[in-house]
Amino acid sequence: MEPTIIDGKKVAASALNDVRAEIASLSNRGVQPGLAVVLVGDDPASRAYVGSKERTCNDLGMFSLKKELPADTTQEALLGLIDELNDDPRVHGILVQSPPPPQIDEAAVVRALDPAKDVDGFHPANVAKLALEDATGFVPCTPLGCQRLLTAYDIPIEGAHVVVVGRSLIVGKSLGLLLMAKGEAANATVTIAHSRTRDLAAITRSADIVVAAIGRPHFLTETHIREGAVVIDVGINRVEDTSKKKGYRLVGDVDFDAVAPKCQAITPVPGGVGPMTIAMLMMNTVKACRQQTGLDS
Ligand code: NDP
Repeated sequence: MEPTIIDGKKVAASALNDVRAEIASLSNRGVQPGLAVVLVGDDPASRAYVGSKERTCNDLGMFSLKKELPADTTQEALLGLIDELNDDPRVHGILVQSPPPPQIDEAAVVRALDPAKDVDGFHPANVAKLALEDATGFVPCTPLGCQRLLTAYDIPIEGAHVVVVGRSLIVGKSLGLLLMAKGEAANATVTIAHSRTRDLAAITRSADIVVAAIGRPHFLTETHIREGAVVIDVGINRVEDTSKKKGYRLVGDVDFDAVAPKCQAITPVPGGVGPMTIAMLMMNTVKACRQQTGLDS
């Protein structure tokens, strides 16, 4: 079977075009959506993520505020900055780049965010809204991106058995809630698997759609996937590759070469879920702006 390769770059570009148009229409009404990104410390990967979020904001015409704090920043100082950003009317969305240095209590920082500006969707109020199917909340960006990829390729979700491998809030658990909700692009029968799951391969083989959010390179192989399944690979893992200038390359949680021939459709890594996450962040920020300014439509 020749699988459809799900092109995340293309779908993300189209989502960003929608966001761009929304920003232009808001700007005609005198409002500019704004995103603040907070980076504590100098982790190179985090710095790269923050840089690309800033570039995307600028490219879309969104107000962008980058706050870089030293690695020895105290919890108190960070909470002080969050308070400032909560009160800053230019800023509709706030994101604190993860992971922060060890002296920072990340959960406490997330709880300090104004839930109305929590465009990552990690604040307990937004997690509750997702569980309660209250559409005014913010859904974490990566699960939103996975859902959008499925709908962009007309992959039926309603009634499908979706097996999500991974139960983190940032991906697996939130995606499970999103796809099992009542409503459009949802109504799936969801199974969440994790490291304590018995006979994982039997469970994933029963899936119409398998989502891998594990963090282990090439963990899912052809024995995990049935003929004709759809595979969404969220994993981003560095593996050593001396042929590359950086000395590594990025691979997913799925052994793409082994699995792809069995699939109806599959996302590559890179170029699958990755580009969607940032596009959904921009979408959430525009939604936050609309809610805070009362320009809901
Ligand atoms: P976490 O480490 O928080 O969660 C990993 C999950 O995988 C856990 O639930 C864990 O189970 C489960 N797991 C680990 N080993 C196994 C195993 N042997 N069998 C079954 N399940 C297992 O990771 P994240 O959810 O944050 O990220 C997952 C991957 O997605 C990473 O590669 C990350 O880089 C990538 N990612 C990509 C994003 C994107 O934009 N494309 C965004 C966010 C993440 P348990 O709970 O029992 O420990």
